[in-house]
Amino acid sequence: MKLILHPIEIPLRHPWTLAHGTRTVQRNVVVELHDEQAGLSGFGEAAGIPYFGVTTATLIAALEGVRGVAEGVPLLDPESWWAGLAPHLAEQPFALAALDAAAHDLWAKRAGSTTRRMLGFGEDEAAYPPSDFTIGLAEPDAMAARLAERPGFPVYKVKLGSGDLAADLARVERLREETDAPLRVDANTGWTLEQAIEAGPRLVDLGVEFLEQPLRVDAPEAERRRLFEESPLPVIADEACFGEADVARCAGFFHGVNLKPAKCGGLTPALRMAAEARDLGLRVGVGCMTETTVGISATAQLLPAVDFADLDGALLLADDVVASAAAGVTLDSGRLRFPPSAGNGVQPAAASLLRLRTASV
Ligand SMILES: [Mg+2]
Repeated sequence: MKLILHPIEIPLRHPWTLAHGTRTVQRNVVVELHDEQAGLSGFGEAAGIPYFGVTTATLIAALEGVRGVAEGVPLLDPESWWAGLAPHLAEQPFALAALDAAAHDLWAKRAGSTTRRMLGFGEDEAAYPPSDFTIGLAEPDAMAARLAERPGFPVYKVKLGSGDLAADLARVERLREETDAPLRVDANTGWTLEQAIEAGPRLVDLGVEFLEQPLRVDAPEAERRRLFEESPLPVIADEACFGEADVARCAGFFHGVNLKPAKCGGLTPALRMAAEARDLGLRVGVGCMTETTVGISATAQLLPAVDFADLDGALLLADDVVASAAAGVTLDSGRLRFPPSAGNGVQPAAASLLRLRTASV
């Protein structure tokens, strides 16, 4: 098996602002595991997220560091292959997740089946939860314009956490003028306990269905407990639920967890986390980074195992590595559409990978 790395750079459709900062271009690494004997390649993707300290350079260094293991360990099934790699990438979950996605893709392609079927899930897309569309933090009219560009989603996720609660609530009020669809609020750790408690009833009135990660991960335990007990809205963990060890820590402080393969190290641990979260009575969601159809197609394989989803990353990019929508899992008005092809269902175009190749490594 041969590991091939494709560092890419794609402009964002719009500058992307979270409580952490703003960016205008996305630099990711598409990972290809090529099986020379079978003549098949599996694909995964790692997003560069500078506020996590993850850049093209750190991703490539991490992936090159495990090239010998990745190419040398036979891929019999993704879980045991992951177990061989994970100890070498304990501090690099983004890189590990990209390899794990590629391994799932190749494993299912070799079997001539889809990854979700190989994982034991049904293939009835209509039974899967829909994905929301995310509105980045901006001035209220700009946020309303973003929503108006993507009508027809069954639910929208709203990024707040500016630090000014009145301004944040005004943003939700403005969006409510644009749509009757339910909203989800993600404060990205930008609120205090007092702000989160004060916002609760108003957000309920505005048709918000849950509140994601309002408090800092290191907020005092008593504050996190109080919000869990007093919030009229379910409180969902994102920044507080990174890896497998975090699921049990979220019980009693959150009503649900937002899993992301990039945070925990792949589909393999995400599936275990989803099962553990359910056992603990937590709702389970799946999210993505700002990634192309390669990354979205891999993470979409988890849809049958979750209650809610935020898989709109590819829509935030002005370009993609697939030549057409039929060459990957696409998001259409909230529904993920799976092509009939094997594996994760995605086939990046070699020409697109070359065209989007980044020089900034
Ligand atoms: Mg979030």
